[in-house]
Order: sequence, then C-alpha cells, then structure tokens
Amino acid sequence: MAALNRLLRAGAAVRLPTAAARRCILSLAFSGGDARQGMPGRRDPVSRNVQWVFLGCPGVGKGTYASRLSQLLGVPHIATGDLVREELASSGPLAPQLADIVNQGKLVSDEIIINLLSKRLENAEANGESGFILDGFPRTIRQAEILEGVTDIDLVVNLKLREDVLLAKCLGRRICGQCGKNFNVASINVKGENGRPGIFMAPLPPPAQCMSKLVTRADDTEEVVKERLRIYNETSQPVEEFYRSRGKLLEFDLPGGIPESWPKLLQVLNLEDHDDKQSAAA
Ligand code: AMP
Repeated sequence: MAALNRLLRAGAAVRLPTAAARRCILSLAFSGGDARQGMPGRRDPVSRNVQWVFLGCPGVGKGTYASRLSQLLGVPHIATGDLVREELASSGPLAPQLADIVNQGKLVSDEIIINLLSKRLENAEANGESGFILDGFPRTIRQAEILEGVTDIDLVVNLKLREDVLLAKCLGRRICGQCGKNFNVASINVKGENGRPGIFMAPLPPPAQCMSKLVTRADDTEEVVKERLRIYNETSQPVEEFYRSRGKLLEFDLPGGIPESWPKLLQVLNLEDHDDKQSAAA
C-alpha cells in the first residue's frame, strides 16, 4: 500500500496551478459536446496545468503526439512503457521479472506499474513540475479506478489506426541508443478500398549522428507485437468505456503521418503550435 499512498500524495501535488499553464500557446475550448467534433466537457484548465491521458494501440504514435503536446503545454510526458524500460535498463531488483513479461508482450502487474508511476510523480513533485500527459496508463480498469481515486483527469485522447499499419509501424520503429529519440524506417502506403480511406506515412529517418546507434526494442518483433495488439484489444474496451461514460473520451483517427495528423490533432484540441506554423512557412 505504500506505493498507493505515494501515488495519492503525488496525485494531489501535481494539481497545483503554475505559470506554465499561462505560457502555453493555446486557446482551449471549455464547452462540452460531441467527442468526435471537439473536446468533451472539462473543468477550467487555465487554473492549473492539463492532466491528460493518451490511449491507443502499440505503435499508434502515442509517444510522438504526447511528447509534442507536452512540449507545447509545458507539462511532463510520462510514459509507463518508458518507466518499465528504465527499470529494465537499471538492472534493479524488478528487472529479471519485468524482462520476462515485457518480452512476451504481456502486461506488468498493476502493483508494479503503480509503484513505478508513483515514484515518477514524486520526482515530478520534487522538480516542481505540474500537470501531465500520461501515455500507456491506465491500461486496465483497476488502473483507471486508482487514477480516478487520486486525481482528476481532464481529457482522454484515444488514437486510432488500422491494425496492418500498426504492425508495420512497430516493426519499423528504431530508437537511438544514445539520445533516446524514436525514428521509423517503415514506408507505409496503403490504398483505400471498400470505403476505407488509404493511408500514407513517410518514414521518419534518423539524422546521420544517430544512424550507427539505432536499436530495435526487444518487444517489437512480429510475434510479440501481435501479442501486444491482442492484449491491447482485449483490455482497452472497458478502459475506453470507463472514460466515454464520463464524457472524457476524444476519439482521434490518425489520417496519416505527422504532417497530416499533427495539425488535425491540434485543431480538435483547439490548440495552436506557433513554432510548427513558423517552420511550415519557412
Ligand atoms: P509501451 O511502451 O507502452 O508499449 O509499454 C511497453 C511494455 O511495458 C508493455 O508491453 C507492458 O509490458 C508494460 N507496460 C507499460 N505500461 C503498462 C501499464 N499501464 N500496465 C501494465 N503494463 C504496462
């Protein structure tokens, strides 16, 4: 229970209002409404930093979009998958047990995940960070209930992409072993058929300095990705329903790669990225 107590303390701490909220280049819509058209109803987020959750299948791009939004909004991007990988890399006491679970594509126990997350939130508190974008958590109803018990989530963004593309994206994913950035060597060009739109995603190639340091995640093999997708599909529906019934779920079908998807995502979130506009105009 110590872990939960820590999460409780941290959950309360990350709700403090900060100036970072005002620094955000955003104009948020506060009205309720159809989640497909815009933001579900939420409390005034200007009084504190956003507390958002990103849901979506492995490979959908949660990390990419959550990280971009975290920079835009000045809040930490907390990915439980990263916390698990850090624990594995640190060869801590949990590492052998975690390696087995992760390499089989299975979910880590709620206790372990909450323990890792509570430590991360404690660090956030110590660093004076406020608000968050959670990526990969909650993945089970129990995790969603625990989160709801300790803090108020404003918005849950559910990213969606067809399964054949998800598999190709996971298999094409590469990470720079030095800087930690994610790239993708997959070139996706699926033609539309039977009323389903086609989808094009250009590769996201690494810069020259990362080229010789690229690694593939141990759980990005075809067999393990298929198992991760199977488990995700099995466990995600109740979590989506949990947030849908609370009017917090924003469904977002990715229309393509980052150049098409990022502006559309900003549009449905009623956000503006001035840096992106400037680089597009340059
Ligand atoms: P991800 O990077 O989100 O695909 O996560 C990598 C792996 O970490 C998953 O396949 C799980 O084994 C584990 N993991 C990450 N987040 C969670 C979570 N919320 N609950 C249980 N296991 C998780």
